[in-house]
Amino acid sequence: MIIPNVNVLSDGQLKEVTDILTAYGCKVMVITGAERCVYAIVGDERNDDMVTKIEGLPYINRVDRIQSPHKLMDIRSSLATHRVKMGGIVLGTEPFFCAGPCTIDPKNPNLTIETAHAVKEAGAHALRGGVWKPRTNPYSYQGDAKALLVLMEASRQTGLPVDTEVMDEEHLRLAIEAGVHCIQVGARNALNYSLLRQIGEAIAGRDVCVLLKRGMHLGSVQEFISAAEYIVQLGNPNVILCPRGTQPTLDGYRNHPDESIVPLLKERTWAPVVVDPSHSVGKAAYVPAASLAAIAYGADGLCIECNVHPGKGIGDDPKQAVTPEVLRRIISQTRELWRITRGA
Ligand code: PEP
Ligand code: MN
Repeated sequence: MIIPNVNVLSDGQLKEVTDILTAYGCKVMVITGAERCVYAIVGDERNDDMVTKIEGLPYINRVDRIQSPHKLMDIRSSLATHRVKMGGIVLGTEPFFCAGPCTIDPKNPNLTIETAHAVKEAGAHALRGGVWKPRTNPYSYQGDAKALLVLMEASRQTGLPVDTEVMDEEHLRLAIEAGVHCIQVGARNALNYSLLRQIGEAIAGRDVCVLLKRGMHLGSVQEFISAAEYIVQLGNPNVILCPRGTQPTLDGYRNHPDESIVPLLKERTWAPVVVDPSHSVGKAAYVPAASLAAIAYGADGLCIECNVHPGKGIGDDPKQAVTPEVLRRIISQTRELWRITRGA
């Protein structure tokens, strides 16, 4: 990681740095932040001659060599001062809430529109909604690009930024073109490294963030953070980590709630963590407790499935979506818990 004395290197300075790195078989990755740029060395940064030459440039303060497999996501990275913003708040400064239906039914657009207004009213900062769905059963509803129009209309009416999952490059292209604010990587694609790279390339230089779910296969903390590194190394550091439960260990839970991973993530990475309590437990009645647990463990926010009429929704909504009244209560109780535990 190259730390300059200035916020942004000029074209001439960047060329000088690039020429030195190229001579040693490395490249520079420019990560553009709100106020300053961070210059990461991509390649083997252990060569002392290369580092000495870079540090000898008058506009360079120092080169930090972080021995970490996720050097940009690492808590010691200079990106640690980066803050992800969404829905008018800076994540980490107050609890963030994203809510909405599991799946947007393009045949019943009013259900999504009504839900969007209701989640905003309940205090959510962002709207979630599945346009394309990863389904275990190949014969169940798989999603429809028409639902993207409904999602964007809900965003227009409420002013809420929207989050939707993409499963391939075509979904990604359509979502970016439509103006989706947050691209979701689902649990089933948590290790789809070509998709992660495509997303990193597509969002570089754009005001778009990524909600990266944890895989459902009991993957390690390291593996979760490294998946985020795939995206961030391509230039956009706006990644949010989203634990959502792993393989079920208790008969009764859809997945094994894994909010206890939050402090482990916080020790190793600067990235905000937004827990999905809905998929963790898979049952609306358990979502309020899982939400409180997540905030108690230090989560920066929650992504909750909510529907004005859960029974009329498709996908997961009939069993796990909470109503807007319950969402309002979760928001108020978790805010209170945040105040008690974090004093703000
Ligand atoms: C979802 O958010 O509706 C979803 C399918 O999530 P996950 O990838 O966590 O199962
Ligand atoms: Mn769902």
